[in-house]
Amino acid sequence: MKIAVLGTGMVGQALAGRLTELGHDVTVGTRDVATTMARTEPDGMGNPPYRDWATAHPAVTLATFAQAAADAELIVNATSGDVSLPALEAAGRDNLAGKVLLDIANPLDFSQGFPPSLFVKDTDSLGEQIQAAFPDLKVVKSLNTMNALLMVNPGRLAGGEHSVFVSGNDAAAKKTVTALLESFGHTDVIDLGDITTARGTELLLPIWLRLYGALGTPMFQFRIVR
Ligand code: NAP
Repeated sequence: MKIAVLGTGMVGQALAGRLTELGHDVTVGTRDVATTMARTEPDGMGNPPYRDWATAHPAVTLATFAQAAADAELIVNATSGDVSLPALEAAGRDNLAGKVLLDIANPLDFSQGFPPSLFVKDTDSLGEQIQAAFPDLKVVKSLNTMNALLMVNPGRLAGGEHSVFVSGNDAAAKKTVTALLESFGHTDVIDLGDITTARGTELLLPIWLRLYGALGTPMFQFRIVR
């Protein structure tokens, strides 16, 4: 499948790398290709610059958000949550219309330091805001409740099956995303319902962040025992 991964951070890199490994034709989207390739410093979390990752992944093309989205059959939103709406606007409404958007972004507000709070919560969600702003897009919220490395390789964690959630209004789009998740190795995909259920998974972030603090590692997962 032709897939656009909008976002050059660790989530974009993890998704683009794994999707390429699985045989998909992947283009990563960024604001400005030259600026992104000119960065030599690690990001705020200490991750190496995109160009180091790109050197190790020559099959992945880097393009503007709009160029990446134009040809794609499926689009991944791996942009910072506070700028996801402008990033999607930059991708171009015509380029998005009718397509599936796997939305991984979380509405984190770092303005008061760490841990961040949520800038939308409880009675609304970022997933819903994206769906409302782009009614032609088939938004499926998923993978936002775990570390990037586990999104694409859940088997890295010992301890058996763990859970991933999908939220979205379009049943066929959720089926497409579920198939992708299963191709990554996820075995317990829980369909929570329409896009309003993204309120629930985005609200898992406050507890995820406290677990990160308490456990001292991001390598843990939610497992729904029933
Ligand atoms: P990030 O640093 O949150 O986002 C990087 C992307 O945001 C870059 O592609 C950047 O564009 C874009 N961006 C920044 N400012 C922008 C602006 N003003 N306009 C348009 N685009 C802009 O990267 P990340 O850590 O990989 O996270 C991506 C998303 O996944 C976030 O929403 C995060 O909350 C969510 N998430 C992350 C994890 C994780 O393990 N890190 C886990 C779960 C969910 P350029 O390429 O042009 O710089």
